[in-house]
Amino acid sequence: MSVTAHTILRDVFGYRSFRPGQEAIIETITGGEDVLAVMPTGAGKSLCFQIPAILDRRLTVVVSPLVALIDDQAAALRANGVSVAAIHSGHDREFNVAEWKRVRAGDVSLLYMSPERLMTPRMIAALQQIGAGLFVVDEAHCISKWGANFRPEYERLGELKSAFPEAGIAAFTATADRATQADIAEKLFSGRGRIVVQGFDRPNLYLAVEPKRDWKRQLITFLKDRRDESGVVYCLSRRATDETAELLAGEGFNAIAYHAGHAPEVRKANQARFMRENAIMVATVAFGMGIDKPDIRFVCHLNLPASMEAYYQEIGRAGRDGMPADTQLFFGLDDVRLRRQFIENDGEDREHILREHKRLDALLAYAEAPGCRRVSLLAYFDEEAGPCGHCDNCYAPPKVIDGTREAQALFGIIEGTGETFGGAHIVDVLRGLETEKIRSNGHERLKGYGAGGAKTKTYWQAFVRQAVAGRYLSINIQKFGALELTARGKSVLAGQSAFELREIVISTRDKPASRPKRSAPSLSARDETLLSALKSLRLEFARERSVPAYVIFSDATLMEMASARPGTLDELASVNGVGPKKLGEFGSAFLALTRG
Ligand code: ADP
Ligand code: MG
Ligand code: ZN
Repeated sequence: MSVTAHTILRDVFGYRSFRPGQEAIIETITGGEDVLAVMPTGAGKSLCFQIPAILDRRLTVVVSPLVALIDDQAAALRANGVSVAAIHSGHDREFNVAEWKRVRAGDVSLLYMSPERLMTPRMIAALQQIGAGLFVVDEAHCISKWGANFRPEYERLGELKSAFPEAGIAAFTATADRATQADIAEKLFSGRGRIVVQGFDRPNLYLAVEPKRDWKRQLITFLKDRRDESGVVYCLSRRATDETAELLAGEGFNAIAYHAGHAPEVRKANQARFMRENAIMVATVAFGMGIDKPDIRFVCHLNLPASMEAYYQEIGRAGRDGMPADTQLFFGLDDVRLRRQFIENDGEDREHILREHKRLDALLAYAEAPGCRRVSLLAYFDEEAGPCGHCDNCYAPPKVIDGTREAQALFGIIEGTGETFGGAHIVDVLRGLETEKIRSNGHERLKGYGAGGAKTKTYWQAFVRQAVAGRYLSINIQKFGALELTARGKSVLAGQSAFELREIVISTRDKPASRPKRSAPSLSARDETLLSALKSLRLEFARERSVPAYVIFSDATLMEMASARPGTLDELASVNGVGPKKLGEFGSAFLALTRG
């Protein structure tokens, strides 16, 4: 069968070969089996359902969460000569009616829709009449409450299978741990289908984590060499988002703010600006779902994300084009307390709450990990890997030292004060301060009072964070963030086990963490000149058609053109990403440049 799939890959999309996993997923779909495919961002999920859709004479319905995303995908397909329709609330009624007429006439291979449009009784009945062959659920993690971006509109997609027992279901996501995968498969096809996990690694992303000290300085230091790049800075609150955007604008950065408190028109305009310009989007997590901008060069978190899945998804927006991109997470113990609080306030389901706490634990352990970040990130998704050489800990390995005696002093204070106080007070007692709270509680009489006086507050805060991350201590939110000893912590206190920690280095100057220089793909100076000419030409075509630039040709395709310098249309056709439709439409214009 792959002969036909391969023919379409070449003759419609202009690609030479499949990427890892694509062919197997296409075979599963064309074989009539329901499937959930988990593939990293940029791996090429769209082709996995677009090719079966083109092969199948029946209609394929694609559900996608974001109007902008739908329009861009439809434009990209049209550019390759594929007949596609899109129906959603961003179009007026007249347009949608015309699109529907084309669908009913059997003129289109793929129909893109938002979930709320699809799941109306009228639309379902109409599609039952036409006889859709395949339903594709893109960004399928949105259907799961366990996932990183639950969307209520997605929940009803669970009814598709009973409404269309003859049709196949193919779901795609870049982010789902095992529990979320099982939940998606259960909801969409009662678990009776295949789950294909293509892997999670994004080797082009540099991973780095740093504790927060003076976050404004740390952020500006991080951004200093990134003035001409596009990136996202994630904040926890709307207020912090506006303030941070202002701060950056004041420092001369092209910064844009985005959060759900802005009017829809403002959000739309800001997003459009970000798609066009090299800019820094300062945003809450309301921003990012379905953002297809391929050249986001960095993602920076100013707070701890909600979970490992959320973190993976948020950093995953960087480097879709496969070129090197940086990620940076800043976090502090306050973030941990806040996150715990959010979880506690998230409904009544104790099991759900416990699970979310565990997930946060995993993220915390990642943040304080002494070893390779990638190893620990991938381990969360049940994937094994060796040290990557492309994260902060691989690049500058932290020293691991024995901290048993210090841990015993700290844990002793926690036990001695009845496990009812938060980190700030515990550290005060340990350092022998004279505060009102200490006096009124008589804590200066405790054994161990002042035992940690030789070290700074910052040092002990870091120490506590590591103890929490290593699950020696836990934060009890119902007791207002009190630190409690876990079984592991008690064992250290009793002298039954040791406590290792990554050496805490307190630097007074805010030296940026060293990181490797990003190695840009190497083109000669002459090729670079050609590349910029090709990019300008691409922009002209994109403007003329009001589509994003990558719909014309991707960066990767232009780079191959610049170095291969095709001299004939045939040679141009052999460049990866140049299909017959694009060759006919843009070929001679680009050839005029490459021929030189
Ligand atoms: P995902 O949805 O998995 O994040 P996309 O489907 O958007 O990724 O694909 C990412 C990019 O890779 C797109 O520009 C797409 O055209 C390109 N691509 C997909 N499959 C191939 C392939 N087999 N060869 C070359 N490029 C591909
Ligand atoms: Mg996609
Ligand atoms: Zn590493």
